[in-house]
Amino acid sequence: MKRIPIHLQIIIGLILGLLFGIVCIQFQWDPSFTINYIKPFGTLFINSLKMIAAPLVLASLIVGVANIGDISRLSRIGGKTISLYLITTVTAVSLGLILVNIIKPGNQLPLETRENLMSLYGSDVESSANVLGELKKQGPLQPLVDIVPENIFDAASDNSNMLQIVFFALIVGVALLQIPKKKGKPVIRFFDGFNDVIIKIVEYIMLLAPYGVFALIASLIVELAGDDPSQAFEILYALLWYSLTILIGLAVMMLVVYPFMFKLFTKVKYVDFFKGIRPAQLLAFSTSSSSATLPVTMRQVEEELGVSEEISSFVLPLGATINMDGTSLYQSVAAVFIAQALGLDLSLGQQLTIILTATLASIGSAGVPGAGVVMLIIVLEAIGVPVAGIALILAPDRILDMCRTVVNITGDAAVTMVVASTEGELPEGLIRKGNPITMMPEEDEDREIK
Ligand code: ASP
Repeated sequence: MKRIPIHLQIIIGLILGLLFGIVCIQFQWDPSFTINYIKPFGTLFINSLKMIAAPLVLASLIVGVANIGDISRLSRIGGKTISLYLITTVTAVSLGLILVNIIKPGNQLPLETRENLMSLYGSDVESSANVLGELKKQGPLQPLVDIVPENIFDAASDNSNMLQIVFFALIVGVALLQIPKKKGKPVIRFFDGFNDVIIKIVEYIMLLAPYGVFALIASLIVELAGDDPSQAFEILYALLWYSLTILIGLAVMMLVVYPFMFKLFTKVKYVDFFKGIRPAQLLAFSTSSSSATLPVTMRQVEEELGVSEEISSFVLPLGATINMDGTSLYQSVAAVFIAQALGLDLSLGQQLTIILTATLASIGSAGVPGAGVVMLIIVLEAIGVPVAGIALILAPDRILDMCRTVVNITGDAAVTMVVASTEGELPEGLIRKGNPITMMPEEDEDREIK
């Protein structure tokens, strides 16, 4: 396996996992073998990525902000980053709305399928709605209050609190810029070194990626098929138009919107970018989690695409938390699909509300599997569509989640490239450092610590 490039190794793992899953179903092998002896390796792999996500966000953002050097440069880069994230998200939501209004997938759903789905998934919806019910009891400004953690160690203990870690890291970084250099330097050096340690750990974990991906996909297929595989396929077929609408939207983001943004702002060829980011995309697909993928996204953007650590360690952790183009597109399509299927006509005002709420909901969604569907409830409530309608779309959600997570991390990486280019990096396109993933220590002149 050594000489095969890492993305190919992951693809091989993915295909073998898929084949293994299909063979298991075809020959009706006992699924408990896969669940008990294969799935744990997938969980182990995801856990190791998640294990480093919170420390990585903390260390890299502190270093990122502190290395930017001065407050005016920080506000310029910060302004660009947030504006680009907002523009891409609103573009994604609007694209979703246009597609779902043209294709009208909700009108294609036979009444009988609709009733079946509602009775099959009704109870699942209740549990998601309960989580949100708690949230709704709070005031309208609660999301703002939630950005500031009561206790940073508490926040760091839960990967879905990433926004709180981002907030703390930003403040520490800004404060580091404003204290005397002599005092700030050792702190920055500490986090800088810590950051490199984590990136090294990512390389170790990546050596396991092909096996982890194999285990994840094999167990996913076996679990999806459940007791009655024909039923799973029937539902998928019934929801084909809905799924297709989302997939077309995601493809347009990846093949039209981001390339256009590259043409406008960078000298980098989009194909080169795409090649460099592939391993992260494959992991996003296999893990359905942009937080878990973040360490790899950062590695690829720095090592393969030549963006400075200064920019990537500021733009990417922020993006993994607040920028989810795939999720926001999905939320707009899903909300209108449910309304169409329930025979409700949405006014222009309601569609505009979707743009606003889906943008906010995607900012609030954590980068973990299934977060998008929970936040969809906010969008539905804002436009007055019954939340129970979510039952209609739960069946293909896992697969769509995998696809939208790919777009989520591609959007973050694309914006990072644009910010880097507009800051004068990558003037001639890509300069690859191309450090291969190895277990060898890196040569470094100040490695010797006395
Ligand atoms: N799984 C997505 C992510 O981690 C979030 C979602 O859409 O559910 O980016």
